[in-house]
Order: sequence, then structure tokens, then C-alpha cells
Amino acid sequence: MFGGKLQVTTENTRSAKAERDLSSLRGLASGGVHLRGDEDYDRARTTWALAVDLRPAAVAFPLNAEEVTAVVRAAAAAGLRVAPLGTGHNAHPLGDLSDSVLMRMSGMTGITIDADARQARVEAGVVWSSVVEAAGAHGLAALHGSSPDAGVVGYLLGGGVSWYARSLGLATNSLTAVELVTADGSLVRVDAEHHPDLFWAVRGGGGANFGVVTAIEFTLYPIETAYAGMLVWDLRDAHQVLSRWAQWAADAPDAVTTSYRHLHFPPIPEIPEPFRGRQLVVIDGAVLGDDAEAERLLAPLRNLGPEMDTFARVPAASLIRMHMDPEQPVPGGGRSSLLDELPPAAVDRLVEVAGADSGNSLFLMAELRQLGGALGRPQPGAGATAMLDGRFQLIAGGMMIGELAKQTIADCERVVDAMAPYSRGREYLNFQEEPVDPSTGYDASAWERLIHSATRSTQVPSSRPTTKFPPADSGPPSADDGRTRGARSWNRAPPLTVTSIRLAH
Ligand SMILES: Cc1cc2nc3c(=O)[nH]c(=O)nc-3n(C[C@H](O)[C@H](O)[C@H](O)COP(=O)(O)OP(=O)(O)OC[C@H]3O[C@@H](n4cnc5c(N)ncnc54)[C@H](O)[C@@H]3O)c2cc1C
Repeated sequence: MFGGKLQVTTENTRSAKAERDLSSLRGLASGGVHLRGDEDYDRARTTWALAVDLRPAAVAFPLNAEEVTAVVRAAAAAGLRVAPLGTGHNAHPLGDLSDSVLMRMSGMTGITIDADARQARVEAGVVWSSVVEAAGAHGLAALHGSSPDAGVVGYLLGGGVSWYARSLGLATNSLTAVELVTADGSLVRVDAEHHPDLFWAVRGGGGANFGVVTAIEFTLYPIETAYAGMLVWDLRDAHQVLSRWAQWAADAPDAVTTSYRHLHFPPIPEIPEPFRGRQLVVIDGAVLGDDAEAERLLAPLRNLGPEMDTFARVPAASLIRMHMDPEQPVPGGGRSSLLDELPPAAVDRLVEVAGADSGNSLFLMAELRQLGGALGRPQPGAGATAMLDGRFQLIAGGMMIGELAKQTIADCERVVDAMAPYSRGREYLNFQEEPVDPSTGYDASAWERLIHSATRSTQVPSSRPTTKFPPADSGPPSADDGRTRGARSWNRAPPLTVTSIRLAH
């Protein structure tokens, strides 16, 4: 089949063919293949993002690269597309998967640490807490984010803002090699010497645009401890604290990476004291430096008299749980944007729309991540996302349960809209859960290179047919072409368009 030509099929013939050939997937993934109507289908399609109702044509759980290859090839033959997913932390933009195989990588959990070379190699189902533990045993740290159970692959392919980000830059640029199955079913290894265009593209360009990643290798750093923790105030102090933090964060040296949050904790037993039933301001983060330097840097925030201060020298591995992100699937959702500045008027607005008197839904969380430093400078030899073009990452999130969902999203949109005057519409796509113009995630030249180099970057060894996907000369993806359908944000999570590629000798 792969030696000849596969013509583009139409919607109708594809649907009929998909129905006929779906059963060809059975037995190809030893972690399980679940088709609509199967007893385990509902469990198989449920991801970390419980509010997202994915209804793929099939769900496959491969346990190794060979099985990934087999499923990609069978999906192509059946006229189906393939949507790879690690955990589902960013399942929200996937959209309509009725003609797609959801490829769930959670069974591929191998980790190898080469302590001497300061390198990690992980398979595509590994989550960050496992890497932190394995690397920490060797006195090494990875550029992980705040969520212990977020997937390494999705986070790294989309960017990766860690607690070390203002010192060490976006985590994606610590990637040293990626192994992936391209749309024609070829397993390729890309690094600085092999398929350098594709290596450039996957580092920030979103993996699923180019293939199903099976394993990934990245640099670890000799960081055994950090000066890290949290400062907590009542939400009524938000204006004073945010005014100070906004100025402090903009001027802080690269050694500091922090987050500022408004948190509303429900009065339920699952929430521990002293947070239960409280509305709080929390600043947390890490300083890479000695204690004296860290204490000097944090003094302007500590001088505001927080009711709790846990900043101290801690093992680097403890940072993975510092932010108190949930470690189980949750029905959450939200909105985000990159901000350029936080002048006094922006502080007023944020406190107005997300403070104690805002009238927001009980569970709204509003967060500002401190960017800049190394995140704001293009890293030499970087991939498609060389830096983040903003000084602060705004995130508004909440629970999406029943009727509450509409209220939550309305509140989140109100927060993001209120801060729009301080944004140029640039986005960090890893935090985007709604349809956005994906070009907002890249500088103009990177975007041009991404969309026009797609054909070249998916060149695979000549013993294999050449894959053309997406057409390099067809201009930017639009909302209704084959690249965005089923994933309104092109770079975020688009299934491989295996039905619209042309395979040739
Ligand atoms: C609670 C929470 C905390 C977060 N904290 C941070 C943070 O501190 N810093 C930060 O930068 N981001 C953070 N994020 C955003 C996070 O980076 C994204 O949600 C990221 O997509 C998570 O990766 P995943 O593999 O778990 O996601 P998934 O939802 O499983 O995958 C997202 C997308 O990644 C791609 N992908 C995943 N696996 C593969 C694969 N094997 N091959 C090809 N493509 C693949 C696909 O396009 C997929 O649709 C956070 C998100 C949440 C929900």
C-alpha cells in the first residue's frame, strides 16, 4: 500500500471506508483498542480534562513505537486521522474527532537518566513527577512546570514554562532529540544533525502537526536545591500585593521565577487548613541563588506581611508540588493571554474583575506568571518557539461542572477581556484552551517557516515514501481546511491529516 499512491479521498467515501476498516485497528495496540460501542470506549476516551467530551472513532493505547507505527498506518488505510495525546491536560482544543483515532500514549512510560551526560530519555506517556523523581536521585533537575501529572511530551513540544524559566529559558529548547512516527508511518529520529528542519519545527511547533512522538530526550541541570516556597495573604490585600509584585516582577533579575494568584478555596473537607473556605492571594516561585541573595530579593514582598511564608531552601524535586496543582483528573477549563505590562491601571482592573468584590463564581482562579528574563530572549539554536513575547502570562480558570461551566467561562473571559488593553494578542499556546489564530503563538518569520517548511520538514529517509502534509504552498491554515478541522488551534492539537496526504515513490 505504501509503495503506490494514496489519493485524497472525499468526506463521504472516507466515512464509509472508515466504518468498514475501523476493525482493522483491533489487536494493533497491546494496551487496547476501543471502538465506539465497545464496553470500555467511555473509559478509554476519558482524559485528565473531565470537562472535555472527546468522541473519537477509536481509541488506541500503544505500548511501543512499533505499535504506534502500526496504528498510524492502519488509520491512514482506513481514511482516519490520528490525534496523539499524553494525559489530556490540553485536550480542550481537539474538537471533533469523529474521523480520528485518539492515540493515547499513557502506556509508554520508560525513563532513562544518563547522569554523566545530564540527559533524560523518556517515552511519550511519562508525566513530570516521574522525571523529577528519577533525575532528582542523581542531583539533577528538569525544566518541569507546575503540574506533577502533566505529560512531558505535550509540555515540551508546546514550549514549557518552568520554575527555572527566567534563568534557563523555555524548556522546549532543552530538547536534544525527538523520535516520532510521521504521517506515512515512518519512525524517524530528529536532532540537530538529523532532519534539522523537523527538529526545529517540533521544538515549540506542536508535535501533532508533524507526527506521533514516541520518545524524547532533553537536558537536565545540576540543580539540587532552590530557595522556593509561597507567600499568602487574604484576597482583601490583593491591590496592595499586586501593585508591589507587578513592579517587583518586572524589575527582578533572571534568577527569580514566580507566579501571582487569586485562589478561591471551597469550604470542603478535601481542602486542608489553612486554605479551606478562604479567598487568598498566593505568590509562589523559586530563586536560583544563595540564601542571602534570595532573602534580599524577596524582602520587598515579605515586607508586606504575608500571613504565611514558606520560602526556604528546599530540595529542587519538591518544586513539582509547590503550586498545589491537582494530581487527578479535574473538570476544569479557562482562558489565557500574554500581557506586555502591568501598569497601575492594569492592577486596578485585575483586582476589580478577579478580586474579593468581583462577584466571580466561587471557584475562579486568576493567575499571572512572571515571564521575561531568559524567556524573553531568543535562545541561540532554538526551535520554532525561541522565546515568549510577553512579560506576564495571564490565566483565568475554574470548574466546569454542569450549569457552573457557562458561568466559569464567562468569568474567565471577563478577566481576559479586562486585561486586553495590556496585550498585543500574542499567545502562549500551551495554555490556550479555546480556538485561536495559531500565528499569534509565533514571531512572523517562525510562522512563515513553520507553514512553508512543513513539506520539507517531514521529509523522511529515501527508502520511505515522501509525505506531503500539509501542502507547503497553500498558505496559512484556516478554520476550515484539513489542518485545522477537529482542532481549531492548528499548532495546539491537530490530528495528523492522514487522509489528505499523498504518498508517492
Ligand atoms: C494544571 C495545569 C498546569 C500547567 N502548568 C504549566 C506550567 O507550569 N508551564 C507550562 O508551560 N505549561 C503548563 N500547563 C500547560 C501544559 O504545558 C499543556 O497542557 C501541555 O499540553 C500538557 O502536556 P500533555 O502531554 O499532558 O497534554 P495533552 O493534553 O496530553 O496533549 C496536548 C497536545 O500535545 C501534543 N502531544 C501530546 N503528546 C503527543 C505525542 N506523543 N506526539 C505528538 N504530539 C503530542 C498534541 O498536540 C496534544 O493535543 C499546565 C496545564 C495544566 C492543566
